Amino acid sequence: MRRIYLDYAATTPTHPDVVKAMLPYFSDSFGNPSSIYGCGQEAREAIEGARASVAALIGARGEEIIFTSGGTESDNAALKGVAYANSNRGNHIITSSIEHHAILETSHFLQTQGFEVTYLPVDEHGMVDPDDVRRAITDKTVIVSIMHANNEVGTIQPIAEIAKITGEAGVYLHTDAVQTVGHIPFNVDELGIDLLSMSAHKLYGPKGVGAFYIRKGTKLLSFLHGGEQEFGRRASTHNVPGIVGLGKAAQIAQQEMDEEAERVTRLRNRLISGILENIDHTRLNGHPQVRLPNNVNVSISYAEGEAMCLNLDREGICCSTGSACSSTATEPSHVLLALGLDPLQAHSSLRFSLGKWTTEEEIDRVLEVLPRVVAKLRAMSPLLKSHH
Ligand code: PLP
Repeated sequence: MRRIYLDYAATTPTHPDVVKAMLPYFSDSFGNPSSIYGCGQEAREAIEGARASVAALIGARGEEIIFTSGGTESDNAALKGVAYANSNRGNHIITSSIEHHAILETSHFLQTQGFEVTYLPVDEHGMVDPDDVRRAITDKTVIVSIMHANNEVGTIQPIAEIAKITGEAGVYLHTDAVQTVGHIPFNVDELGIDLLSMSAHKLYGPKGVGAFYIRKGTKLLSFLHGGEQEFGRRASTHNVPGIVGLGKAAQIAQQEMDEEAERVTRLRNRLISGILENIDHTRLNGHPQVRLPNNVNVSISYAEGEAMCLNLDREGICCSTGSACSSTATEPSHVLLALGLDPLQAHSSLRFSLGKWTTEEEIDRVLEVLPRVVAKLRAMSPLLKSHH
């Protein structure tokens, strides 16, 4: 049975050209980039090349990029780093209720350390209102962190508008762009952000490596103390193959992103309308237009998300019931609840996320299998019976 992978938002397969670019740095050029002899310097050059590629992808300068272990580390570094470094100015942080756990749990931690956090609500499409940001800012606010696009429902936030507000107030703006870097074009200067998190494994790079953009002049504390790597901001011997892989992935993204976003958007729309038209009692979650090119999130009433997911898996189709990080939890998704869904609707939701190797045939196969799976589950569902 051929596998149909539709969970690119959880992680992407590593691009074959990325693997090829990484390989020499495990063996031939294995040197420590901090060493002064030849093979150390080869590794150093490769890292600086990757830094330039990542910087170019988001319109930053090389010295504003530091390499980390992924999105989670960058998110932690942004919130904790700014909060502690600026605690003489204030102790207030603003974020949204639909952030990834990397931001939400870091915020909860900071609350135990004397910081105050405002969690902004979102509308029924998952959109933060910039006016809410404006109203929430006090003279104690040091950082606002709003994700660029949501990993579950795909809604893209009005970051540029929010940046105008934080800029005027003299408050740092961080954005978790893990789901957008390499998928939709953007530029840190045009958006007006001060800090940004990204992760290689969401853009066809390897897992366990990411980057953290820090606008020049941003006051930030480091949390990994040790060697002088990464401008003294993040100690530890570089993950050279991983960083090289991220650099290659950034290069490929820059070349292919526009065309790819268009292609995937067409397939996404085909899947959305196919589901809404062919299965009754369904609704699209997230913003109908302002959403990631590859995101489909639907609630299918009277069918349970996990049961649908497992039945689809039996037919070779991989999708997710919410964010991958919470696939072992039985709690309904905090994102769907924040959009106003009731727990039952949230439990009956599926996320399909498309990518580089998704084909029209695969989408049509899902549209053939899913109605069958839903009909079977609804026939067994006591919830449906009570509905009729
Ligand atoms: N932020 C968002 C929006 C994500 O989707 C993810 C990954 O699931 C992360 C952060 C965490 O990234 P990483 O897995 O690289 O730590």
